[in-house]
Amino acid sequence: MCSGRVDLEFILRAFSNGMDGVFIGGCRLNECNYITHGNYDALNMVLLCRKIMGHIGLNPERLSIEFMSSGEGILFTEVVDDFSKKVKELGPLGKGQEIDEDELKSKLAEVRKLVPYIKIVKRKKLKSRLENEEEYDEFFTSDEIDKLLSEVVSYYIDPHKCQACMICRKRCPVEAIEGSKNQIHVIDQDKCIKCGTCFEACPPRFGAVKTISGQPVPPPIPEEERTIVRKSKK
Ligand code: SF4
Ligand code: SF4
Repeated sequence: MCSGRVDLEFILRAFSNGMDGVFIGGCRLNECNYITHGNYDALNMVLLCRKIMGHIGLNPERLSIEFMSSGEGILFTEVVDDFSKKVKELGPLGKGQEIDEDELKSKLAEVRKLVPYIKIVKRKKLKSRLENEEEYDEFFTSDEIDKLLSEVVSYYIDPHKCQACMICRKRCPVEAIEGSKNQIHVIDQDKCIKCGTCFEACPPRFGAVKTISGQPVPPPIPEEERTIVRKSKK
């Protein structure tokens, strides 16, 4: 219904599924029927996605966004024709001069896992309203996105500090934390979407959740070593 509903994940999923190009048609900017102006959100998402595409070796021209009213049928056919021609010139995804098909699939899978993280880190910018087309190109820079994706933060529970209070496990939105009463908690890194909720939820007196960047996350403590023996029960 609204171009603002087109999530970054939808675009990356389309490319993962082998689409050669993605076109988003939105209402004219500043002519939104509601107070939400979701087309600005869609524009920011596209500008961000194009830089991500560049980062993983995909031609950003495979993604297009255009704004028009429902009465502009001729304009619609023109922009869709132009985009179709452009995509044909670029050739099939992963088979032209861009990245190899298998490498592309694995890079898209990696970056799709990071979508929640990217949206959290860039949430302020994604909510901006760009009034000038001149601002589009440099709104998200390639350096900024390279840095964002090379300095991804991971979360890790320090087994020496965890007191098995279970707060983080209850708050994790994707059930990525394993643990129970009297059991040191561990994060399943494959499930973790790096939202940082556990980091904020762990009581400061425990401070058991750590952030790690630029180095591998330590392996989880073996299951047989996770039981916490409380002093009063010794
Ligand atoms: S950062 Fe923490 S709360 Fe967020 S998904 Fe990962 S484990 Fe769960
Ligand atoms: S909130 Fe902190 S202390 Fe409590 S279970 Fe999670 S990591 Fe352990």
